Amino acid sequence: MTEVTLDTISNLAKKRGFVFQSSEIYGGLRSAYDYGPLGVELLRNVKAEWWRSMVQERPDVVGLDSAVIQARQVWQASGHEEFFTDPMVECRNCHSRHRVDKLDDPDRCPTCGKTGEFTEPRQFNLMFRTHMGPVDSEENMVYLRPETAQGIFINFENVRRTNRLKLPFGIAQIGKSFRNEITPGQFVFRTREFEQMEMEFFCRPGEADEWFQYWLDKRFQWYVDLGMRPENLRLRHHDKDELSHYSTSTADVEYRFPWGWDELEGIANRTDFDLKKHSEHSGEDLRYFDQESNERFFPYVIEPAAGATRTTFAFLIDGYTEETVNDETRVVMKLHHRLAPYKIAVLPLSKKPELIEPAERVAAELRKRWIVELDVTQSIGRRYRRQDEIGTPFCVTIDFDSLEDQAATVRDRDTMDQERVSMDGLTTYLAGKLV
Ligand code: ATP
Repeated sequence: MTEVTLDTISNLAKKRGFVFQSSEIYGGLRSAYDYGPLGVELLRNVKAEWWRSMVQERPDVVGLDSAVIQARQVWQASGHEEFFTDPMVECRNCHSRHRVDKLDDPDRCPTCGKTGEFTEPRQFNLMFRTHMGPVDSEENMVYLRPETAQGIFINFENVRRTNRLKLPFGIAQIGKSFRNEITPGQFVFRTREFEQMEMEFFCRPGEADEWFQYWLDKRFQWYVDLGMRPENLRLRHHDKDELSHYSTSTADVEYRFPWGWDELEGIANRTDFDLKKHSEHSGEDLRYFDQESNERFFPYVIEPAAGATRTTFAFLIDGYTEETVNDETRVVMKLHHRLAPYKIAVLPLSKKPELIEPAERVAAELRKRWIVELDVTQSIGRRYRRQDEIGTPFCVTIDFDSLEDQAATVRDRDTMDQERVSMDGLTTYLAGKLV
């Protein structure tokens, strides 16, 4: 197995156009990133696969897209204004700030190396503040959401009523979240602006433990089904003192990142905490009326909450493979076909118009179904290497024989096997190969 470092992946991501530093021409903004042409496809594919598994394929889950900016009362009711904090210390020697619970040694500053220089920890609220409207007053202050979940809770009744939903059911959402992290880092692992994929699954209180286990299994399997190596994945149950203010049980899906095991997704039993709090604070009765038992009660909630950007990063790390072929090292990004940014590259062997013309025709036909790159630069060997490195499952090469036999050579990324396929039959052939 290839041991991959953080530098290898972040360099490849920059070199090939997956991820760029935000505001790079101005020196770069720490902890915000832009997704380039390849990164945006990979990220979109990760989100599409999540949506497919969590919404499209399920009779009991619907989608939602709520606003990033919500009333301040939402965050007061949810407890975020009071509790969404991390313990922070400052080093008296170098003035760097650190999140205490993430320090390897709670006495030693990782920036300057001095020990015993930390101030007393203080709780730092992670929510970004801004103002709505032209006046910067306290009354106009709003927060950027630090999670997508609250947008779901405050729409619980809207969604339930308009879609005539009966327990158990889920509401899913993908979107941006913002946290003013004390110590962002490890490339796109922890950023201050990121994307989440969250689903709130509402059920009867007595069934919550069963659904919790169901979603743990289901979510773990999602990563495996998309090709993540099982040996790089594990489930870790939280200790009681680790639990968030709203949760009775939580488990994380963890990935073996280059620096060690770290969280990809948290699955939590949020109980009836959020719906109850929003009922109390808003005055709206958010209880569910159960026609069978003729009872009104607050449903319990199981929440699988994953990071879209963080998961995308993990897929890149997991896919990175170095192989020795004829005494040379070949780098292959072994992404699942469904995640690969480009599904096919069309490569005319030379820049001569008689090859460019059929290559363009083939590419235009394949683009009706897939994201396709037509690449005419450099030697064919270098073009294959580039496509391997960005994870393109198939390369279609048009050569001078193609003019005679109306066929092209299709090369498989993983096996490097090559097959001659008639140009007319390429769509059918590739549709059968792409999983
Ligand atoms: P941590 O303890 O690492 O700060 P958390 O437990 O607070 O994270 P959750 O609130 O459970 O994280 O968020 C759900 C998911 O959202 C996480 O598993 C992660 O994938 C993603 N996520 C959270 N914070 C960030 C961030 N700053 N950057 C990128 N992704 C994030």
